[in-house]
Amino acid sequence: MQKTIFVLLDACRWDIGSANAGYLEHLVEVGRAAKYQVRGELPSMSRPMYETLMTGLPVSVHGIVNNQVCRRSLHPNLFSLCRSQGLVTAAACYFWMSELYNGAPFDPLSQRFQLGGDGDIQHGIFYWEDLYPDSHLYADGEFLRHTYDPDFLLLHSMNIDYWGHQRGSDSREYAAAAGAAMEHLARLLPAWMDEGYQIVVTADHGMNALGHHGGPTWEQRTVPLYVISPLCVPGRYEEEEVSQLLIAPLVCRMLDLSRPQGMLRESSLPGLEAPGPRP
Ligand SMILES: [Zn+2]
Repeated sequence: MQKTIFVLLDACRWDIGSANAGYLEHLVEVGRAAKYQVRGELPSMSRPMYETLMTGLPVSVHGIVNNQVCRRSLHPNLFSLCRSQGLVTAAACYFWMSELYNGAPFDPLSQRFQLGGDGDIQHGIFYWEDLYPDSHLYADGEFLRHTYDPDFLLLHSMNIDYWGHQRGSDSREYAAAAGAAMEHLARLLPAWMDEGYQIVVTADHGMNALGHHGGPTWEQRTVPLYVISPLCVPGRYEEEEVSQLLIAPLVCRMLDLSRPQGMLRESSLPGLEAPGPRP
């Protein structure tokens, strides 16, 4: 098992994300990363898709049907699965993750820093303003990584979503926000790879030209997935869309976690190395 960093770029649509991911695309070109086109689940909204990404379950099963459902997750998730195996979890992310995996409702004045807690996210730094700078978010993540040496670390930035809502997916501001997030990542990826981390970069949903997401159109649901891991043969797997439900089981396999009931088998993801022994 190698430690894993999960980067969630909120609302980073497939085409705009890809068009601004110079360094990640380079890693695909030189055979260091695998890239997939992901067909996102519905509704293409944040809180439901956070739960889908972390549990591998569709909304009709996990019940977080829109952003207003404010409660803790009822299902095994990547954080709780890690904790049950004695692995260390950490996250720098939007406060909805705290509500889903540590408890709701979130109190910003007392719960911004949850370090050494007993929630599913053992070490968390949470923000609640959508314009919390991505630059600070990635620095928060580095603090968690250096201080607590987590086995599973989630970094979740929000500025792409913010600018998409403000100006729409065709705007220079949305593209610039995607490019800026990718630049932050490019500064971090070489060190992460040198230190042997497995890395997953993806999004919860996309964005349309009107500045909305939630529906079933291609623009609102299609997102990229980049994977750096010995489990994934580097290359481009973009011809056919893969299900977003495969991301949680992929991370389970990366971390040697037993796949809970209801989670799909990751084996339908193209480009996987042959499975080793697992429970
Ligand atoms: Zn949004």
